[in-house]
Amino acid sequence: MPYEPVIGMEVHVELNTASKMFCGCSAEAFGTPPNTHVCPVCLGMPGTLPVINEQAVRYTVMTGLALNCTVQEHNVFARKNYFYPDLPKGYQISQYELPLCQDGYLTIDVGDGHPTEAGQARRVRIRRVHLEEDTGKLTHVDGYSLIDFNRAGVPLMEIVSEADIRSAEEAYAYVTRLRQIVRYLGVSSGDMEKGAMRCEVNLSLRPVGSDEFGTKVEVKNLNSFRSVRNAIAYEIERQTRLLEAGKPVTQVTMGWDEAAGVTREQRSKEEAHDYRYFPEPDLPPLNLEPAWIEAVKGSLPELPDAKRDRFMANYGLSRYDADVLVEDRAVADYFERAVRVAGDTINPKLVANWVTGELFRRMNETATAITSVKIKPEDLVALIRMVKGGTINQPAAKETFGVMWETGRPPQEIVEERGLKQISDAGELAGVVAQVIADNPDPVAQFKAGKETIIRFLIGQVMKATRGKANPQLAEQLLREQLQSNE
Ligand SMILES: [Zn+2]
Repeated sequence: MPYEPVIGMEVHVELNTASKMFCGCSAEAFGTPPNTHVCPVCLGMPGTLPVINEQAVRYTVMTGLALNCTVQEHNVFARKNYFYPDLPKGYQISQYELPLCQDGYLTIDVGDGHPTEAGQARRVRIRRVHLEEDTGKLTHVDGYSLIDFNRAGVPLMEIVSEADIRSAEEAYAYVTRLRQIVRYLGVSSGDMEKGAMRCEVNLSLRPVGSDEFGTKVEVKNLNSFRSVRNAIAYEIERQTRLLEAGKPVTQVTMGWDEAAGVTREQRSKEEAHDYRYFPEPDLPPLNLEPAWIEAVKGSLPELPDAKRDRFMANYGLSRYDADVLVEDRAVADYFERAVRVAGDTINPKLVANWVTGELFRRMNETATAITSVKIKPEDLVALIRMVKGGTINQPAAKETFGVMWETGRPPQEIVEERGLKQISDAGELAGVVAQVIADNPDPVAQFKAGKETIIRFLIGQVMKATRGKANPQLAEQLLREQLQSNE
């Protein structure tokens, strides 16, 4: 019997506010000396009181709006009670019945793992986006454990989807899209390897065509995009094997072991009521003014989909090029700065070709982010202009680009210094062409006998004689003229 996976995701995103959720401590936790960003509030000392971080609320509302959610005007923080060594208060301040944002959706593209024209857009509904505080971090060493509270109290946004995801690929597309959006909004680094984004999935199988839900298994410890995809693929296979053997799937929490490539059973999941949620007595209800919500809405930057559509409409880019360029907001900004500098003189498609071609190739080879690229957009445009105007040819352009990449110097200077200017002067090139014809009697005879393609060889000889500086179109034109006239 064929089975269909039913997948929901919970994604925790650390917000990059300056201070923590309920105190003035720095919210910078990754890579900081342990227990240096702490105070009586985030250490849960008796008698201390929390104060809500407005920026964290704003960031969460921004995210909710970007995910097409309804923003709740009346919000209540809830106390989630449980005992764990990384939780100094013995409870976590979270939201339960009244989250900041609810009922949204995220559109994902599912092609062949590639943003192609044939990619299919799918909507994954968002159930809620709420705000809570992060816990401390435990490090288990031989025989004892270490605790760092720098992360305790860092604002943490939780995004919960409905169980609308149907494959490992879709889950992958969903989390990469979420990361793209939080990065566009500037609310989080979205770095999974630094723990700024953490995923959990719940997954069940049901016979294709059925509307009922099977038994749900939760998978935690998904610390990279790759592990999201791999863990889901593994769980689908494991549960299919059980069902096909007539065995039941048990409701458990699994952890993903990336090194071994398997899920392993963890402690059995507490039920919601075990947390004894109740309204947080130390915080008043949080009421958001409609005007404030509108102001946040008005402050949202252009989001990836809108930017892609605009790039296609305004610059005549293909869907693929537009997708690739908007993937990272900084890349899109770089491209647009170049296009603005180019004005009407260069087709934006040509600028896109250079960015997604040479520039991306170098960036990938050297793992360089666009923000660290030394070539200024205006210099890239100057280079393209020199090629277009015939000042330099393609090989010279590549050489110039290489030096620009290393040094960040403007192309005019490099071309001058290295003598890369193309010989576009017919008088200057005519002598070289005559010499090439004299030196190559056999190919010349073949050309005259009708072997048209041999002209490429003769052009090559001209390029060689000029050390690559001849304008190839001019070389071909002169060759044909001279070969015809001395027939
Ligand atoms: Zn603190």
